Amino acid sequence: MTPEERDKAFVWHPFTPDRPWRDPEYRLPVIVRGEGPYLWDEEGRRYWDGNSSIWTVVHGHRHPRLVAAVREQIDRIDHVSFLGSTHPWASELAEKLSAIAAGEMGPRYRTFFSDDGATAIEAAVKIVWQYFQQNGQPQRDLFLCLTESYHGDTVGAMSVAQSRFHRLFGPLRFPSVALPPPACYRCPFNRAAAGRGDARLDRRCSWECVRVLEEALDRHGDRLAALLIEPKVQAAAGMWMHPEGYLRALDRLCRERGVFWIADEVFTGIGRLGSWLACRREGVFPDLLCLAKGLTGGMTPLAATLVRDEIYAGFAPDKGRAFLHGHSYTANPIGCAAALATLAVFEEEGVFERISRNAEVLDALARRFWRHPRVGDVRQEGFVLAVELVERREDRASFPSDREAAFRVCERARTHGLLTRPIGDVLVLVPPLCSSTDDLAGMVEALERALWEELP
Ligand SMILES: *Cc1c(COP(=O)(O)O)cnc(C)c1O
Repeated sequence: MTPEERDKAFVWHPFTPDRPWRDPEYRLPVIVRGEGPYLWDEEGRRYWDGNSSIWTVVHGHRHPRLVAAVREQIDRIDHVSFLGSTHPWASELAEKLSAIAAGEMGPRYRTFFSDDGATAIEAAVKIVWQYFQQNGQPQRDLFLCLTESYHGDTVGAMSVAQSRFHRLFGPLRFPSVALPPPACYRCPFNRAAAGRGDARLDRRCSWECVRVLEEALDRHGDRLAALLIEPKVQAAAGMWMHPEGYLRALDRLCRERGVFWIADEVFTGIGRLGSWLACRREGVFPDLLCLAKGLTGGMTPLAATLVRDEIYAGFAPDKGRAFLHGHSYTANPIGCAAALATLAVFEEEGVFERISRNAEVLDALARRFWRHPRVGDVRQEGFVLAVELVERREDRASFPSDREAAFRVCERARTHGLLTRPIGDVLVLVPPLCSSTDDLAGMVEALERALWEELP
């Protein structure tokens, strides 16, 4: 059997409909090598990794610094139990993450390590829960989230989100309250006519999204434990981007009422939007902060739940209460070494300067999509570009769901050397941060060509 045949016989893929598998003509890319922004399949064809291997590979594949860090670590140590012992790389990483989250003026954070985005969210939710249970506010049992938010696929992470992927599992979830997100392009409060510009900048509204949030906070009062949000960009919803100022308003409203808020920066964190964190862009400091995907630059699974020291104080030894939660691979030393190297590359190789220049190039390239009549919205933040396809631009009418327009465009883009995945009707580019301006131009051109070919 070939690797592909064996795969079709024995493997089960996440979030992958089996339709292409049932079609014997459908060729699954079998990837065997990666370097920088490129991947190669077993036949030697080269592709741009247009979604950074599901948003993880921030510095591109096999960055020499990360490879060296992992190699050196393997020669020293493989794994250490984190239940009651420690190692130097975890403590150094936790200190660095606290500095990244706090900047010059923020609070001190303590890190709880786990393995994936979903586990970072589970830990955050359980920390908040246990905190209120043991600190005299056990009635705080309700979580707020945004409509179409996505925080991972474990049962707890599904419960504090509201994603179309999870409808089937509704009865398994504990209840939470979902609020309308500040996603201007499809916001019902936005009275601006559809145009050819960023809907966030051209919006006409009175910040009704903030009013609705305030009303919900008042309505549920002291039953509220925490609000979860993907700051600035709701990734899995289809790269819904929030207007400047929403996060600051949310921070103020939650803080006035003693409701914690949890920033899910599993996607936006670690440089994706052109700064360390989305929260830093609005100068806010969440109570808890979740990181995963880009944290090790794609080397190994590792996640971090950062918690303000005040919350940790609610678990202090004099209270005699451990956090009753953990995983066997917590703070794996190879992952911690990869994460330290990932952070060092940002600091030592001028990554932020380069991506702020290149993000402007990406923004300029992206304007070309407006020429296509089926493009309803083009939105971009840092190294994230989303192009939303519509049946009609004038009234933002969506395609019938069986049309699979964006899926077909991405399949076609593969023949032009670009691998990327759509989200619903949204074409998405999430390039590795090491991509040069030529790489960015190549990726945009491959996607644009595929768009015209599939939707002439
Ligand atoms: C991917 C993602 C998650 C889940 O992370 P996993 O590592 O896939 O469990 C959670 N939140 C956001 C915002 C994500 O993009």
